[in-house]
Amino acid sequence: MTRPYLYQALPGGIKGRARVALLLLATIAGYGPAIAADDTPAKQLFGAVTLPSKGTPQPEGFYSKGCIAGAVALPADGPTWQAMRLSRNRRYGHPDMIHLLENFSQDAEKLGWGTGILVGDIGQPRGGPMASGHASHQIGLDADVWFTPKPATPLSVKQREDLPFTTLLDTSKFLTVDPKRWSPTHAKLLMQAASYPQVQRIFVNPAIKKKMCDTWTGDRTNLGKLRPYYGHDSHFHIRLRCPAGAKDCKPQAAIGTDDGCGKQLSWWYSKEPWAPPKKDPNKKPPPPPKPMTLAGLPKACAAVLSAPTSGVMAASAPADVPVPAPSPAPDTVPVPAEKPAQD
Ligand SMILES: [Zn+2]
Repeated sequence: MTRPYLYQALPGGIKGRARVALLLLATIAGYGPAIAADDTPAKQLFGAVTLPSKGTPQPEGFYSKGCIAGAVALPADGPTWQAMRLSRNRRYGHPDMIHLLENFSQDAEKLGWGTGILVGDIGQPRGGPMASGHASHQIGLDADVWFTPKPATPLSVKQREDLPFTTLLDTSKFLTVDPKRWSPTHAKLLMQAASYPQVQRIFVNPAIKKKMCDTWTGDRTNLGKLRPYYGHDSHFHIRLRCPAGAKDCKPQAAIGTDDGCGKQLSWWYSKEPWAPPKKDPNKKPPPPPKPMTLAGLPKACAAVLSAPTSGVMAASAPADVPVPAPSPAPDTVPVPAEKPAQD
């Protein structure tokens, strides 16, 4: 039987072991470029990581093409929020986003939105592309909030997996909010979310934008932050600007001062956004786009992916027991975890 070379080298005392270590290092180093050149979809790599990386929070790249170092988790339960679909492990974001959600949840309760908010996907522990559901949410600065208020009796983990989404639209009509499902509190909730200076955009269904344009009688300064988009009829999507000092965060274009109730909205009521893409019968359809690989993301994302794990964050969903509410975190410190990491 031929023993592998490394195995033969093992009983060689300290010198031998050092040699093994060196060889292992060389082997690992040798694999580095191979990993980077791999065509494994980045969504698989980022989806497999269960904990954030250690260190200073740093969004890398753009909302729909990037990753985040040093993300923190929104605690699954808070006094005025609950995170939904815990099994997805997508409640990580930049600390600014986590703090915003906590503050917003308190403000939401104050304006009569149940006992607070139900939070949908934020991001994966190290951001990056996801196997399902979103093009953006990659750099810890996007979060979905349900159009369903947090009920008085907290939802169990199971209920949070199973609770169906409820659309605000009358699905028997074209792009129309169902007046039975809409209330002035919905409008106040959206304008509250838009009121924070760090919020740059809020994506809502075009029908919801129209409802706001038609009925909002208060200050319209922030109405332009509500951006019509496909979907977003059972949840809305909050997007933060790049935080100050986040040098690798690629900002999105400013939205301008228009309230977005004119041409921008009427386009959604034209045929154009809903027409199937035109096909040229003489041309072969282009091959489907290849999934994003690590090499296609900002360079720093390879380092984020392989960086040591943050020792303070818990990623796994809690068992079906109430999780104690965390004390409010100071502005400069990552939100403490509910429990230490398992491994
Ligand atoms: Zn979203």
